[in-house]
Amino acid sequence: MAPTPNPVPSKPCVRWRAFGVAALALAGSLPAGAADVPGAKPASAQTVAKNAAVLTQLPFTDRADYEAVQRGLVAPFSGKVSGADGHAVWDTADYAFLQADKSPDTVNPSLWRVAQLNAVPGLFKVTDRLYQVRGIDISNMTIVEGDSGLIVIDAMTVTETARAALELYYRHRPRKPVVAVVYTHTHADHFGGVRGLVDEADVKAGKVAIVAPAGFMQEAISENVFAGNAMNRRVKYQIGGAMPRGGQGQVDAGMGKGGPVDGSITLIAPTQLISQRYETHRIDGIDIEFQLTPGTEAPAEMHLYLPQLRAFCPAENATQMMHNILTPRGAPVRDAKAWSQYLDEALARYGDKTDVMFSPHNWPTWGGERVRTMLADQRDMYAFLNDRTLHLLNKGLTPYEIAEAMPRLPGNLEAKWYTRGYYGSLSHNSRAVYQRYIGAYDGNPANLNPWPPVETAKRHVQALGGGANVLKLVRAAIDQGDYRWAAQLGNHLVFAEPENQAAREAQAEALEQLGYQSENALWRNMYLSGAFELRNGVPAYKPSTVSPDMVRALTPAMFFDFMAVRLDVDKAQGRDMTLNWVFTDLNKPFALTLRNGVLTNREDARHPKADLTVSMSKATLDRISLRQLDFQKAVQQGDIQLDGDGRKLGELLGMLATFTPSFNIVTP
Ligand SMILES: [Zn+2]
Repeated sequence: MAPTPNPVPSKPCVRWRAFGVAALALAGSLPAGAADVPGAKPASAQTVAKNAAVLTQLPFTDRADYEAVQRGLVAPFSGKVSGADGHAVWDTADYAFLQADKSPDTVNPSLWRVAQLNAVPGLFKVTDRLYQVRGIDISNMTIVEGDSGLIVIDAMTVTETARAALELYYRHRPRKPVVAVVYTHTHADHFGGVRGLVDEADVKAGKVAIVAPAGFMQEAISENVFAGNAMNRRVKYQIGGAMPRGGQGQVDAGMGKGGPVDGSITLIAPTQLISQRYETHRIDGIDIEFQLTPGTEAPAEMHLYLPQLRAFCPAENATQMMHNILTPRGAPVRDAKAWSQYLDEALARYGDKTDVMFSPHNWPTWGGERVRTMLADQRDMYAFLNDRTLHLLNKGLTPYEIAEAMPRLPGNLEAKWYTRGYYGSLSHNSRAVYQRYIGAYDGNPANLNPWPPVETAKRHVQALGGGANVLKLVRAAIDQGDYRWAAQLGNHLVFAEPENQAAREAQAEALEQLGYQSENALWRNMYLSGAFELRNGVPAYKPSTVSPDMVRALTPAMFFDFMAVRLDVDKAQGRDMTLNWVFTDLNKPFALTLRNGVLTNREDARHPKADLTVSMSKATLDRISLRQLDFQKAVQQGDIQLDGDGRKLGELLGMLATFTPSFNIVTP
């Protein structure tokens, strides 16, 4: 998945937590789709018809995936994974409502299908010496049995679920120590649980190897820091973190059910980086060939081939659905072409010698022929996304026109379940490819300098005869089932008149029906989260927190770069200063310059005459960042030495903003 700045939703506000609990308590007794979200409306006649039609359009009689998710079941898992304070980090009861055979009118039947398939928690034998724990986190943990210990491929998102997964394994298999952990890529749902599996002292002592693709630490950290607050906010939309679970709420997140709630995300740095295109290592008697695939689903990612087991892991580059070229949460745009090429390389190199393909999400694929077909299909899908977008772009089509001109995949791809857009979508992905090659601007000068949303909205509403008339138009579009238009128009009305409750309700209804119709789990979650916030307000999220391991892994340069992001230019203008900042334990000086309201840093350098020199250890900085130590106090007790005009430091810190993930999205 995504990863995420912080895939773990903050504690929900009291209001909707209460509703969430009510929904849970009722989950067993109400039919799926019963009222479980405050203010939610039932499916409209148009939505009922549209969802019913899906049942005739897709091959629902093909039940092979239902067999695959049960194959090799050693032990099911049901119940809670609890945090240290007893709260449920994961609870399989949340998704008990998915056991209903028939999907409710409020869920696209294709999405219902994958939501059911992703809700089969337990320990599974994939092949000899290779096991998976699935369904207790958004990602899977794969356990390979070495000669004397265990090799774990991907560590889930949080320590609580990772530990529960390993304990589940130990209840049914010999209790051997973990001797290696492999991170397939840089997203937190693949490394965050690592401290639930191994002790860092054992890693330092050389008893446990941590293997990751080259560039791992830089990419894992930077993605979570610089745009972290906005991503964190949008992750909550994308996975429906604030939504109650149920037929009118969150049913899935495509790659899995959703993020664990308030668990501990940890990180232990790799001890071994894979930096060659192919590298073979023998780990505890198991040969693993690593295939580097940089710039695919994550900036640093790799495939694994295990020849003795005839097993192949494509990391997150081939899963049981279409992935994202650009996640709706936001991330640097990915390279669909490279993605496709690496899958082709894997097909050529491992296709003939693979009996099973397993991924850190969803379920495995067995049988050489099926694996080869799936790899070829996935290759074609990402190549099509890239090439067709470029083809249409070169014909002069613009992003939304291209999205509309690519309603389905070509050839036989459309008929395969594993190309369905449960996570990525053709529409969003084609726009991502457009952005990658020629940017967000569509070339039309009318779009060079549009009014921002509120100003545009006010003018639209005025031109259409005022708010009352626009509301009528929105309602008429809703009555006709043209929810896309209703949402576009309603958005103008809400941005022009944010206090207009009738407008907000109409807009919520339009978004909600779009959500009920979506096959894409993330689209559904975003539509429903928008409707939810229009009716109930934005949940009061706490300021984004970065886990202690992430803070400690920040390099000093990243720390200063982020300080520059936090700087409020209005407060900083006219207050130029120069600082030397020395990390005594690293013997590393930085020259900081505040000038024109902009803060820059130069590594391994000092100003000849600085206003102030600040000396401290990196560990002290970490404790301050984690709010374990107050800056003033650190100065008083000598953890920080100041040489020069000490007031400058207080001045600088006073210019820094604190971001919170409660900003508005569907309202101005
Ligand atoms: Zn993932």
